[in-house]
Amino acid sequence: MHKTLERQLIRFFGSIDVIPPEYDQMIKIIDTSYKNFQADYELMERSLDISSKELTALNQQLQKEAEIIENEVELRTKELSVERSKLEIMAQNMVTGAILINTSGDVLFLNKPAKTFINFSGSDHSTALEQLYEAYSDYPIAEYIRRSLQKEFLKIADVQVGDAIFNITFQPLENQFNSSGIMVWINNVTAETLLERAKSELIVVASHQLRTPLTVTKGNTEILLDESYGPINEEQREIVEQTHESNENMITLVNQMLDTTKIEQGIFNLERSSVQLEDVLERCVGDLTPHAKENKVIISYSPPLVKLPSIKSDDTRLYQIFQNLIDNGVKYCRPELNACTVTVAVALSDTHITVTVRDQGIGIPKQEHNKIFGRFYRASNAETSFINGTGLGLHIVKTLVESMSGEISFKSEENQGTLFTVSFPIEESSN
Ligand code: ADP
Repeated sequence: MHKTLERQLIRFFGSIDVIPPEYDQMIKIIDTSYKNFQADYELMERSLDISSKELTALNQQLQKEAEIIENEVELRTKELSVERSKLEIMAQNMVTGAILINTSGDVLFLNKPAKTFINFSGSDHSTALEQLYEAYSDYPIAEYIRRSLQKEFLKIADVQVGDAIFNITFQPLENQFNSSGIMVWINNVTAETLLERAKSELIVVASHQLRTPLTVTKGNTEILLDESYGPINEEQREIVEQTHESNENMITLVNQMLDTTKIEQGIFNLERSSVQLEDVLERCVGDLTPHAKENKVIISYSPPLVKLPSIKSDDTRLYQIFQNLIDNGVKYCRPELNACTVTVAVALSDTHITVTVRDQGIGIPKQEHNKIFGRFYRASNAETSFINGTGLGLHIVKTLVESMSGEISFKSEENQGTLFTVSFPIEESSN
C-alpha cells in the first residue's frame, strides 16, 4: 500500500487492522490512484531533470556559437572597413572627378579631383551643386542632372573652360541596395583632345600639301598616256600606267583621310539640293564601267521603271557612296571567275528608296562582319588577296548614309559574294 494512504488510514481508523472489510475495494482503488500518481510524478521529475540538463548543454552550445558569430562579425567588420578604406582611397585618387547625387538631388560624395575641377574646398556638400553649375556655367548642367535622375545616360563632350577641356558624363545608378541616384563623372581630356586636334590639323595640312603634286602627277601621266607629246613604247606605257595607278590610290587615300578627319571633327557639312538618285547611279555606273571592263567585271544596272521621288541630299556625296560600293564590288571580284557581275538595282516602296549593290566576289568572313565599318579595317581575305585599299571607304560611306537619315546593311558569304543595301526614307528626304 502507498505510504501516504497508509498514514492517512492509520490517522483515521487508528490501525490498519480495524478497517472494516467493506472498505477494502475502495481502498484498493485509492491505492492504485496513489501509485499511478507516484509513477507519473517520478516520470515528470525524471523528464524535468533531463530537460534541465539538455537546456544547460544547449545554453553552453549557444554561448559557443554566439562567440563564433561575434568573432566572425568582428572579422567581417574589419574586412569591410579595410575594403571601405580601399574604395575611399581609390575614389579619392582617381584622375576622374566623381560626384554622387541622390534622388533628391543632394550631393552625397565628391572626390578630390571633382573638388579641384569645381573649386570646392569646404565640407558642406550642400553648396557643391552650386559650385558645379558655376564651374561649367556655359553648359546646362542642372538640366542634365534632372534628366539623368530620370534614368537618361547623358554625356557632354568637349566642355571648354579656359584652356582646359572636359568630358562630363551623367550616369543613372542601378537601384541596388536602395541606393539610386546618379554619378557625375568629370574627365579632364585636355591633353588627348589637343593631341587629336594637332593630329587632325597635321593630316589636313599634309593632305592639302600633297594634293598639288598628286594632281600634277595625275595630269602629267595622263598626258603621257594620251601620247600628246609623241608615242611611247610598251615598256614606257607600263611604267607610266603603274605611276598613274599608284598616284590614283594616293589621291583616294588623301581624300579619304581628309573626309575621316572632317567626320571626327564634326565639320562634315552636306549640301542639300533636290537629287534624282537614278541619275547619280547612272553617272556612277557609266564612270566605273571602263575600269570594271579592264578587270573583266560587268556592271549591270537597270534604271527604275518609274521616276523616283527626288531626295533632298548632297549630289556629290551620294555619288561618293555608290562609287565606293560599286568600286568595291569590282575590286573584290573573285579572280578565278572568268566573268564577274556587279548588279546595281533600285526599288521604291511607300516609305523608302532602296539601292542594292550585289557582287559575286571574295565575300567578307563571318567573324569580321561586325568590324567592317570600322576605321582602317580591312578583312583578312582582302589583305591576303593583295587588293589595294585603305579600309576607310566603308567607314565614310556609313557616316554619309546615316547623316542623310539613311541606313546601310550588308549580307556576305566568303567566296560567294556580298550584297550591300542602302535605303533612304522618302518622307524625310523628299521635296
Ligand atoms: P578598302 O579601301 O580596303 O576597300 P573599304 O572601307 O571600302 O576599304 O572596305 C573595308 C573592307 O571591307 C575591305 O578592305 C574589304 O575587306 C571589305 N569589303 C568591302 N566591300 C567588299 C566587297 N564588296 N566584297 C568583299 N569585301 C569587301
